[in-house]
Amino acid sequence: MAYIALYRKYRPQNFDDVVGQNVTVEILKNSIINNKISHAYLFNGPRGTGKTSVAKIFARSVNCLNNKNGDACGKCELCKKIKENDVDIIEIDAASNNGVEEIREIRSKVKLLPTVAKYKIYIIDEVHMLSTGAFNALLKTLEEPPSHVIFILATTEIHKIPLTILSRCQRFDFNKVNSEEMFAKLKQICKLEKKNISDDILKLIVKLSDGGCRDAINLLDQVMSLSSDDVTEDEIYNIQGILSEDKVINFLEIISQNDIISGMRTIDNFVNSGKNLNSVVEQLLVLLRNVAIAKSVDNFFQKDSQLKYLSIDLSLDNIKALTNILIELENQMNKSINQRNLFEIYYIYMSNIVNDCKSAVFYDTLNQIKFNEGKMKNELNNTTICDVNTGDNFDLLKKIRINNVLATANKEELLKINNDYERINDFIANKVYNNIATLLLSGKVVVASSNYLLFCFDDKSLVQVFLSNLEKIEKFLGEIYGTEYKIMSVDSNEWASIKNKFIINKKNNVGYEIMPELENVQNQNKKNTKFENITKNIFGDEVENIN
Ligand SMILES: [Zn+2]
Repeated sequence: MAYIALYRKYRPQNFDDVVGQNVTVEILKNSIINNKISHAYLFNGPRGTGKTSVAKIFARSVNCLNNKNGDACGKCELCKKIKENDVDIIEIDAASNNGVEEIREIRSKVKLLPTVAKYKIYIIDEVHMLSTGAFNALLKTLEEPPSHVIFILATTEIHKIPLTILSRCQRFDFNKVNSEEMFAKLKQICKLEKKNISDDILKLIVKLSDGGCRDAINLLDQVMSLSSDDVTEDEIYNIQGILSEDKVINFLEIISQNDIISGMRTIDNFVNSGKNLNSVVEQLLVLLRNVAIAKSVDNFFQKDSQLKYLSIDLSLDNIKALTNILIELENQMNKSINQRNLFEIYYIYMSNIVNDCKSAVFYDTLNQIKFNEGKMKNELNNTTICDVNTGDNFDLLKKIRINNVLATANKEELLKINNDYERINDFIANKVYNNIATLLLSGKVVVASSNYLLFCFDDKSLVQVFLSNLEKIEKFLGEIYGTEYKIMSVDSNEWASIKNKFIINKKNNVGYEIMPELENVQNQNKKNTKFENITKNIFGDEVENIN
């Protein structure tokens, strides 16, 4: 006996066999029971979700003389005739018959009465593939359909159907089949076929078929045809020509590590093991999406998946860059005759992009260290550096001062400052220093030495205000304490980590050496409008009093 593909063998024969389209099936059944038949239906939905199967069931059922709860009885005169000769149920694949001629032929024949059945039914699959001329011809038929004709149009791309056609059809949307229903269907087929396939494998088939019942059953068919009883997940990925998720993760890691040699070897493996490079690109895109979600949300994935995605060392910027490159690659590959070549070039490009970004961060740090060293040398030579932008310069000043206050820290000095801190209260009503006094009273001094003070504020924005008024505050402190301290401030989080590092360094006998000051920072900082704005936001127009 000839082998019948599982998908044909288990194609639903009546409405109750249809998997996962309950609403559509109920409405269609009721329209048959109540004899409210339209002359044009449009079935819209992803491939393999049962559009054509339902169209055929509907065609048989609507012709049955004695239908039972909406389904064809299979026994009446018409059911028997249709079974012998379904000449009145006409299937057209618009993907291969997209010419105007075919539709014209429908128009010329549509007026003829059905040969055996009540209704002549035209099922036009992939109807979006019709040419404009063919759509116009079809429209003329739909405008005045003979009472014995029913059109069922099926499409996966409803946006390509002209509105004039849409408006003349009763529309049904077919959904992707949910995992539970699909799993149950596969389990049922295994039982009927007397094949023992593990639940894990069935679940993987469900996952890979992405809601398409036909794809799932076809894949099950291929799995069943493998000689061994113990099918492995790898074998399934091989059948599909795709990579397991672990392998995609592995490849993405190679990209992020700039290991070109092992990347080229991996691509060689993909090709030699028959992997479809288009699918690899698709899989990388899906993985990048998952990594981005995992980095942004905590509980979107199951714990083990979440951990796997988080282990990939890519920033959101990198993910975005790679996604754009992969989309470009996908487009280019469709035009290319040498996909492998293209894939390899883009692979190297991706690897460079990711690792350039990483080196950029690295070089920033390195440059700062170099600048720092250079600055020290320049200080010794009594030269001044001016060509550094304010932001970096300021960060550097911050690092130097924190370093210096720690290097010279003195407990007695801190005690003295804190004892006298209350005196700041006296300046709250002072015309010149009232704002600065208020600011300082909302923070505290955490480290002090004879030349340096480090302030700490709970509120980050107060740190910014402080930093934008360094000179003024130094002058003010000079008036109170008789010493013009060099000052710096941090927020409480920064302070906690500085303190920790300091304690660890002390334990390990790592000392702090005084670094030379930057002279021109404060002048430059005055021009920093960002700080001025923050000051204005907090102090209002009285900011003039401070600066
Ligand atoms: Zn019947």
